[in-house]
Amino acid sequence: MSDFLPFALPDIGEEEIAEVLDSLRSGWLTTGPKTKRFEQEFAAFIGGNVEAVAVNSATAGLHLALEAIGIGPGDEVITTTHTFTSTAEVVRYLGADPVLVDIDPLTLNIDPAAVERAITPRTRAIIPVHFSGLSCDMDSIFALARKHGLKVVEDAAHALPATCHGKLIGSLNSDATVYSFYATKTITTGEGGMVVTASPEIAARCRTMRLHGISRDAFDRYTSKKPAWFYEVVAPGFKYNMTDIAASIGLHQIKKAWQFQARRQEMAQYYDKALERLPVLLPPKAPAGDTHAWHLYVLRLEPSAKVKRDHFIELMAERGIGCSVHFIPLHLHPYWRDRYALKPEDFPCAQEIYGRSVSLPLFTKMTEADQQKVIDAVRGILT
Ligand SMILES: *Cc1c(COP(=O)(O)O)cnc(C)c1O
Repeated sequence: MSDFLPFALPDIGEEEIAEVLDSLRSGWLTTGPKTKRFEQEFAAFIGGNVEAVAVNSATAGLHLALEAIGIGPGDEVITTTHTFTSTAEVVRYLGADPVLVDIDPLTLNIDPAAVERAITPRTRAIIPVHFSGLSCDMDSIFALARKHGLKVVEDAAHALPATCHGKLIGSLNSDATVYSFYATKTITTGEGGMVVTASPEIAARCRTMRLHGISRDAFDRYTSKKPAWFYEVVAPGFKYNMTDIAASIGLHQIKKAWQFQARRQEMAQYYDKALERLPVLLPPKAPAGDTHAWHLYVLRLEPSAKVKRDHFIELMAERGIGCSVHFIPLHLHPYWRDRYALKPEDFPCAQEIYGRSVSLPLFTKMTEADQQKVIDAVRGILT
């Protein structure tokens, strides 16, 4: 199966490899100078005077952000069913309840009207997820947040880089925005994440809580003039810090973020052209002038298509191509379904879209021949 085209592969250059070796040889492996530089360069990339706090996953980052805005037992946090379980599980970490709502079938993003219907006196925050790298309707989300006094934490795991009315996601008015550097995401550090916020208080709380609730990290203790052995524990924190080995990769990946986006966009446009006459619904586009990060390219098979989604994925695999499904909506997973007595009828759009969706391979290391192989396979199966 050596010519099997996987669903996703990271794009790691010699610069990343050399930087990792440099870290390994330097003796400084954990959070240190490279993590600090990665945070500074990430914040500069986003712009708008934000601070960036590096962590070991987006899941950790979402947990820290919700903790920093004060989510706790008895609170409700509204998010979409059309996401990865991370988005909701972090709410449970804090003893609060995620309230899942349906998506807008045109954008596949959280439906603001459904958010409004789900607001109760216990609602404290909204977590919009910029699905596949297309910005949510943030005007409506912010309007609801203002009207009801709610916090907003953006799950931007797919959205580096993406814009909303020309402004980069991460530089909007939310309390915090969280990115993922998992191996399949638009930039990677192997495992990793970043919390971005314009609030010095939220940034400071995330920094403390990512490392055991300790007031100074190891690098600070190593470089500061105060005695290195001294620190104070101010809260029962977590172990969520990023290593300098991971940051070594991130330092070079962030420099390539726009180049990667341009390549993904070019490939998405090529898929659109090649597949438009088939019995499929093409992915939604960003409004004119805005950037779609194109983390995912999700096709929806028309009911008239010759094969159903599950069979389609099997036939693609037989042709040596890996596909995926984003996402199995949370309301179908046993834990969420049973704990909150969720029914498919409560999420008609997400439920219907789940049955028809398939994500095609889209990654920057794909060659034109790889993409042609995917296109030929899709055409072969559907015509
Ligand atoms: C990947 C992903 C996450 C989790 O990212 P990790 O870095 O693996 O923790 C969260 N939300 C969404 C929407 C994702 O796709």
